Amino acid sequence: MSLDGFTFEESWDEKRRRAEKIVEILMRTHPREKLLIGDPYRTLIHCIISQRMRDEVTYRVWEELFKKYGDIETIANTPVDEMREFLRKRGVGLWKTKGEWIVKASRIILEKYGGKVPDDIKELMKLPGIGRKCANIVLAYGFGRQAIPVDTHVNRISKRLGLAPPRVPPEKVEEYLMELIPKEKWIYVNHAMVDHGRSICRPIRPKCESCPLKELCPYAKGLVRDEDIK
Ligand code: SF4
Repeated sequence: MSLDGFTFEESWDEKRRRAEKIVEILMRTHPREKLLIGDPYRTLIHCIISQRMRDEVTYRVWEELFKKYGDIETIANTPVDEMREFLRKRGVGLWKTKGEWIVKASRIILEKYGGKVPDDIKELMKLPGIGRKCANIVLAYGFGRQAIPVDTHVNRISKRLGLAPPRVPPEKVEEYLMELIPKEKWIYVNHAMVDHGRSICRPIRPKCESCPLKELCPYAKGLVRDEDIK
């Protein structure tokens, strides 16, 4: 792990202590009654629908999809064009691709994995429509495993907070966070940062003045700028 570009005159141990404090504060500020852990297959389908979609629309379409088609067998046996049409009528972006992914991933899970979603990141990433972020979402929210899905909020906030160098790709951000944050807290990082990113650390004009992390944040001290972040 390189410290280039985000040392802020702190050692790795100091950075680790700061990361732990940050996660504790985030967990206090953005608690959830309980993490929604449960059904890996439904989580996977949710993740495919959600790509480049607003949460409310994703949730509504996902609910309707399971109401109409019920289970993996029915979805796997649905013609791709019908699934595409279902998504298109409900305003889902990339409906052609997603329709195909949903049906094909379901067929593969049935045929290759006996109807059970694999709980291994490499196997998950072989499924159509499942990149590293979705695979980690399935592991964390589907299986309840300790994993850190890096989405746009986690990427931006980690870099503003100096927990990852400003220009590394999301898979590297994941590695830095896994090094810095104790494993038993990984599962909270995604949802806490997503909530934080929507309410306070927004993409444009973050509310640093009212942020409980401002004392711990290089961005709030002017040491990281949005122009530096990729
Ligand atoms: S201080 Fe500002 S940049 Fe840092 S986490 Fe809070 S809102 Fe984001």
